[in-house]
Amino acid sequence: MKVLEGRLITVSNRLPVEVKTRGGSPRLSRSAGGLATALDSIWRYSHGVWIGWGGAADSPAANGVLQKATRGHSYSFKPVPLSRDEISKFYSGFANEIIWPLFHDMPSRCNFDPEYWEVYQRVNRRFAQAAAEAANGKDLVWVHDYHLMLMGRYLREASSSGRAGFFLHIPFPAPDIFEKLPWRKQILRALLHYDLLGFQTDRDRYNFVSCLERIVPEAISTRDDPFNTIELEDRRTRVGTFPISIGFEEFANHAASREVELAANQFRHELGNKFLVLGVDRMDYTKGIPERLKAFRILLRRFPELRHRVTLLQVVVPSREEIPNYKELRREVELLVSQINGEFTESGWVPIHYMHRNLTRRQLVTYYRAADIALVTSLKDGMNLVAKEFCAAQVDETGVVVISDLRHARRGKTFPHAPPARGYSRQ
Ligand code: UDP
Repeated sequence: MKVLEGRLITVSNRLPVEVKTRGGSPRLSRSAGGLATALDSIWRYSHGVWIGWGGAADSPAANGVLQKATRGHSYSFKPVPLSRDEISKFYSGFANEIIWPLFHDMPSRCNFDPEYWEVYQRVNRRFAQAAAEAANGKDLVWVHDYHLMLMGRYLREASSSGRAGFFLHIPFPAPDIFEKLPWRKQILRALLHYDLLGFQTDRDRYNFVSCLERIVPEAISTRDDPFNTIELEDRRTRVGTFPISIGFEEFANHAASREVELAANQFRHELGNKFLVLGVDRMDYTKGIPERLKAFRILLRRFPELRHRVTLLQVVVPSREEIPNYKELRREVELLVSQINGEFTESGWVPIHYMHRNLTRRQLVTYYRAADIALVTSLKDGMNLVAKEFCAAQVDETGVVVISDLRHARRGKTFPHAPPARGYSRQ
């Protein structure tokens, strides 16, 4: 591995920790979700600065808590303050009401509000300014995810001449979908200010290159697998595929610990040692939670002999609760859970145990270890770290993952020339 000469300046919408005010004083908590998990091991061992929003508690006391968290470490946090209006229009609005549904092939869920675009540009410029101030010429600026696609351009405008890379942690859509975005050209051209662009799968990389061919034909693309090189004006961008994974050993060791083994046995015992099916998802319409619940209902209707023998533990982590689509989804999920439990519950058995909350890492690993099957029923997904974590936790090698074939777009449909699909173990 090439050793970095300078420091790593990591930039993401959120810092990996969040400051919340509890009982009048600021407290630190871990940010939830796949990106925070995926980058966990990188930032702990890296030498540099992490730039991102640090949570709604923005005060000298909150900043003090952030600085204290990194005392004695080789990295520091640089929070970027965002107003309530910016959170609403940049984060909830542009990122999660436009880019998130569009990039997951659900354009009918998009709310193409032009004001969101204005604020998206403004906030991206602010993040770029923060990175330009933090970085010197030797440092590598590594920008994460769909919230910050314009940052490359603004970094260059802020005269940052060092290397800058961008990684997209969600799928990139095919041209027919991407073209629905009114600001498609500006976004593609801004991305070409990065030196390196990383996608999760070859499908996403090919989609990106196909979009360029159609929307920015002046860019010249050459393919040299596993990379593409794009030249535009005086710049050259390498585009590659880098499937992200988890700290496999950390999960496996935790799952193998005596503490987790005892807790998993205890949990199974409390549920009456039923066959345990597990779902762990953020509350998100891409995860196929209502579809999974309906499938479970069909199972119990068609195979009455399974009643009393199978229990579904569905953990749903609260997410983006201020966005109307997400509020509706929660209502739908909770109605389905209560309908199914109402239809089938009998003395000594409840078919679905439903939790709507954040779990601690220990609870999560305990459920992974206790379950017989994990259901991953995404309608479209990036990497799905839950599936990987569940596999890592199967220290007895007994668990099974049932994984949706819609997790990625079907091979051959979007890219007839895509390389063969690879197995789970590679990612
Ligand atoms: N997770 C979490 N808190 C919880 C339950 C899960 O932080 O209460 C983590 C889980 O360990 C996994 C991530 O959330 O690493 C979910 O990642 P995934 O790729 O499956 O989905 P995403 O949320 O990124 O769409």
